[in-house]
Formats: sequence, structure tokens, C-alpha cells
Amino acid sequence: AAVLARIDELVRLVPDYPQPGVLFRDITPLLADGEAFAAVIDQLAASVGGPVDLVAGMEARGFLLAAPLAVALGAGVIPVRKAGKLPGPTVVEHYQLEYGEASVEVHPFTVPEGSRVLVVDDVLATGGTAAATVRLIESCGAHVVGLSFLVELDGLAGRQQLGEHPIDVLVHVP
Ligand code: 5GP
Repeated sequence: AAVLARIDELVRLVPDYPQPGVLFRDITPLLADGEAFAAVIDQLAASVGGPVDLVAGMEARGFLLAAPLAVALGAGVIPVRKAGKLPGPTVVEHYQLEYGEASVEVHPFTVPEGSRVLVVDDVLATGGTAAATVRLIESCGAHVVGLSFLVELDGLAGRQQLGEHPIDVLVHVP
């Protein structure tokens, strides 16, 4: 679709957010454009290499991509939550931020052993969130069949944390 050629114009640049020195990529204009959003979901779905049982999306913008992508693939969806949001029982994976620590959680009964899981988020930055999510899914005995992102910040080399898993990205940012 022609709209895919101008996807980067629908990602708004926000200097010094959430802290000085960070150039934040805001995807809300893309989400608000129905034609572009549909084209993005179609493109992410078309790039998936094999069967997928579940799409795991990271809170919160990953949810917005994971749900339509799961429906397009005939798969279920797993909300990967930040600390303390799920009623439990949960499995948890901790990871380091620049300052401090964060964690991701799922209900283990939503991630059956042996299931094939696609991990989805809006932006791949340092890779800490995605790497923790991969460990989380694998700790449940499931297989990560790939990861899909709208935007990759290439300069942060986040993909180096993601091992050999196939990675699909729509917009690369130097
Ligand atoms: P990482 O763990 O790879 O450093 O950061 C990725 C997480 O932070 C993702 O969940 C992503 O949504 C969020 N994130 C980091 N940088 C940006 C950004 O520039 N724009 C948006 N929309 N999200 C970001």
C-alpha cells in the first residue's frame, strides 16, 4: 500500500521526552489514521514466517498492535503487563533500566507449554523490555517464533539482546 511509504511521517518526533536528551517517537498520529493503521497491521501480518498461536503485546502501546495482529493471524493475544497489574498467579521477569529496575508479568496459564508466540511492541529501543519478554515467554515453556516492531532505533543496538529470533521492523531510525 502506498500509505506504507509515508508511515514515518505519521510518527511524531518529541524532543526531550520523557527526559532531556531523549527524542521520543510518538505513534499516536499513526494509530489515529485508519488507512495507515490497517496497512501497518496487514504488513506486520504478511511478514510473519510461520504459524503463530499467540501474540504477546507489551503494555501499553504493544497492546494496540498485538490485538489486531492476533485477529489477523487467527491467534490469541497475551497482554504482557508491567509490575502489579495482574490478579495472579503470575510469572515475572525483571530487567534493568538506565536508572532502576522494571518487570514484566503474564498469567502462566495463558502461555501453554510448546505454544508458538509472536512478541510485538511499538518501538525497539535498548531491547531491555523485549529481551525480558522473550525470557518470560520461554520460562513458561513456550517458543518465541519472532518479534515485530513498528519502529527500531538502530543506534541503540537493541536487537543484539534478542539472540537469533527473527525480527520484523517497519521503520528504521538511525
Ligand atoms: P527498551 O526496553 O527497548 O529500551 O524500550 C522499549 C520500551 O519503551 C517499549 O515498550 C516502548 O514502547 C518504549 N519506548 C522507548 N522509546 C520509545 C520511543 O521513542 N517511542 C515510543 N513510543 N516508545 C518508546
